[in-house]
Amino acid sequence: MRIGILGGTFNPVHLAHLRSAEEVREAQQLDRVLFIPSANPPHKSRSDLASAAHRIAMVRRAIAGNPAFRVSSIETERRGRSYSVDTLRLLSRQTRRAEFTFILGLDAFHDIGTWKEYRELFGLCDVVVTSRPPHANPPLNTLLPVAAQKDFCYLRNINELEHKTGHRIVFQEISGLEISATSLREHLARGQSIKYLVPASVERYIAAHRLYSRRTKST
Ligand code: ATP
Repeated sequence: MRIGILGGTFNPVHLAHLRSAEEVREAQQLDRVLFIPSANPPHKSRSDLASAAHRIAMVRRAIAGNPAFRVSSIETERRGRSYSVDTLRLLSRQTRRAEFTFILGLDAFHDIGTWKEYRELFGLCDVVVTSRPPHANPPLNTLLPVAAQKDFCYLRNINELEHKTGHRIVFQEISGLEISATSLREHLARGQSIKYLVPASVERYIAAHRLYSRRTKST
């Protein structure tokens, strides 16, 4: 079974997350995409972070109706910080016959050199880096941290790299949807609509629980 992993804060989940997962699933012939909300994101501020239970509930509502999509609480159940390399190791132990593909946007890949044991991560799974407006699309090889470059060779071109373990990193251009959870939280804090930027079920959930309104603390 080929399983894609889309990690993120999902604070909240939005249509660009869903579209990215769907386009990568189709292009990379994945059987499943697992959305993994992060419990305690090492790279992000916690001040307007909705609880893990809310973020999981929103993802659950967002993916309802897509039989290939699943949500996992693997990171929110684990104590301490969430590191992708630990998640990958745990998933590999739990699902031995699966092949994993880690999906992340260009913005996230820019910071990969700061991730815990990122060179080991490249040896555990394939990686798909997706375009993300307004970021330009530089050649993938130029984004690879210098320390990791010796672990790779070109597969077919500068946007398809092969790791010494045989795993690949590929760049995939996806539909450009300039949506971010940050801008959604800003809309909500100003009392503005987020209609057509998130699934209607997520919009209803946020309204029902008064998330991100600044007047009410979301717990
Ligand atoms: P925030 O604005 O709070 O930083 P975000 O919108 O970037 O959040 P995350 O939950 O951090 O959302 O993103 C999870 C993953 O989805 C990351 O790999 C990110 O690059 C990717 N992603 C998020 N938004 C988009 C988008 N509009 N287009 C393509 N990829 C996206």
